[in-house]
Amino acid sequence: MKKIMGLLLLTGIVFLSACGQQTESAAGDDGKINVVATTTMIKDLVEQVGGEQVAVTGLMGPGVDPHTYKPSATEVNTIGEADMIAYNGLHLEAQFTDVFEQSAQRGIPTMVIGDAIAEDDLIQVEEGADSTVDPHIWFSVENWKQATDYVADHLAEQDPKHAEAFEDNAVAYKQELDELQTYITERIEEIPEQSRYLVTAHDAFSYFGEAFDFEVVGLQGINTQTEAGTGDISSLADFIVEKAIRSVFVESSVSSRNMDALMEAVNSRGQELQNAGELFSDALGDEAQNAETYIKMYRSNIDTIIEGLN
Ligand SMILES: [Zn+2]
Repeated sequence: MKKIMGLLLLTGIVFLSACGQQTESAAGDDGKINVVATTTMIKDLVEQVGGEQVAVTGLMGPGVDPHTYKPSATEVNTIGEADMIAYNGLHLEAQFTDVFEQSAQRGIPTMVIGDAIAEDDLIQVEEGADSTVDPHIWFSVENWKQATDYVADHLAEQDPKHAEAFEDNAVAYKQELDELQTYITERIEEIPEQSRYLVTAHDAFSYFGEAFDFEVVGLQGINTQTEAGTGDISSLADFIVEKAIRSVFVESSVSSRNMDALMEAVNSRGQELQNAGELFSDALGDEAQNAETYIKMYRSNIDTIIEGLN
């Protein structure tokens, strides 16, 4: 009898301590924080920093355009059940406005990566009379380091017991980002300064251009929701001829139709223009493309750009 009582008592203690742990860390059944992330870049970032302590559900897959992506009813439910939500903001996920508002009302903790970036490091874009912030913040590696710290801080708030692990992961990851920065800088040295033009399907690479001294030109603006007009194609074709640009790049998350029209327009002006390959702009690639993480994606882009411009 005594033995049974002891056993019961022991079970009770184990049960109590398990409960205590759960309310303290606000984590899911398996002890992990269930994070729902919108883009592939953000999913990767939260996984890098959260490590074993997070289970991240990504809504958008490789090659998906976040400007136009609309969440399904099932995905809206998934967001509603998350411990935390991670998204870019700055109107990148333009079809998610209502969903984000609802989850804010429900008090679901969020990580808005755009909020992580110091105001001076955000690029303002004039669109008609309005000024908006360019949402493609991940193409500045320095920005992504700020985002890394931001995610570590927010995960630590959610799960204070693992604050140290998040901090350690962030430090290690920022070191990898520094190595990436060095790789990009060194490879760009291979391109003569007067040839540093990056012409792509839409304006996703301004942060890259500013950080690494490249002139970037997108056929469409900072979002893909409005179609490129024939006037846009014609004036960009003139620019390409004037600057004697020989290579342009398509994007994995944007239809190549407009770029085909651009190449035709340049060819009809008597200049040869080649499609120098596919860049990952608003989504990572997959494992087969060796671009399934932010760092691999960026390295792949740089290799494609250097090869294409040489
Ligand atoms: Zn974009």
